[in-house]
Amino acid sequence: MNSERLSSINKVAGGTEEQQKIVHETYEQEFLTEKFIEKGEREKTPEEKEIIAALVMELNDFLGKYGAKPLNLEETHIHILDKSKMSQEELENFEKTYPDSFGFYQAEEQGVVISGWDVLNHLELANMIVHELIHFLSYGSAIIDKATLEESKNLKINIHIHRTGLSVQKIMGENRVSYFNDINEAVTEELTKRFGERFKKIPLLAEEYENVLKVREKYSNPDILATKIRTIDKPESIVTETMVKGYGYKEHRENLNSLIKEIYEKRKDDFASEEEIFTIFAKAAMTGEVKELATLMDSTLGAGTFKKIARPKEDDDK
Ligand SMILES: [Zn+2]
Repeated sequence: MNSERLSSINKVAGGTEEQQKIVHETYEQEFLTEKFIEKGEREKTPEEKEIIAALVMELNDFLGKYGAKPLNLEETHIHILDKSKMSQEELENFEKTYPDSFGFYQAEEQGVVISGWDVLNHLELANMIVHELIHFLSYGSAIIDKATLEESKNLKINIHIHRTGLSVQKIMGENRVSYFNDINEAVTEELTKRFGERFKKIPLLAEEYENVLKVREKYSNPDILATKIRTIDKPESIVTETMVKGYGYKEHRENLNSLIKEIYEKRKDDFASEEEIFTIFAKAAMTGEVKELATLMDSTLGAGTFKKIARPKEDDDK
């Protein structure tokens, strides 16, 4: 079990041992295959490549503290889209499918897709990448639905992604239903926020991060993620305007944080800080072991509380 992680999939369930091995190898092959999305991907700049390499190094270390197993991610696992290379339909589809996010992680393709437009600067892009790479590096599992793997061409049809961090997907007849999606996004974005301190160590991001810290202080708003000062040249004077962007999944994060607070208020004898309780959520997402979290919630807030946050949602796409 202590073997090196070669794809985002830590565990394959169902089928025979031999079939599970084949599925692991399929994802490993997928992980190794360099891809370029014909419709819409743009080349990365040398700076972006340098930033991604630094982010991967820091992220593997940062998430390791929560129990995630490291992965040799490369810049080629990240696909940055260019609006001008997409058709109107592709663009609308992207914005409709991911209304609250700027990208997505594809376990099947072992990649991350990021919308590369409307970003203020490198720091905002880096935050988007970090969020998606946390999904990538969190615990991942797949299930073999029906053991008909001899027809290797149909391999993928018979497998589905079961876990990504805390989120669980189940096949219900024709539909895929996902559970614990909101809480998973909240934990992912809260981890993204905590990762921020590491931007200080990345030369191409350090200055932009220092500016963010100043703006956060000025507006007493710790939720600011990126900022940019824009100068508008008007005939009579030069006007400067501060543009800011905040962390995503605000409502989900507020729910998570009030849940943590509620637990902490009742368990002050057992925990030194709310952060210790957040760590239990994050570890569950990174290791796939949810027992400690479920027990903590049920014993503190009442039996069945953990299941209540599952909030099932039907997925029509991913
Ligand atoms: Zn996400």
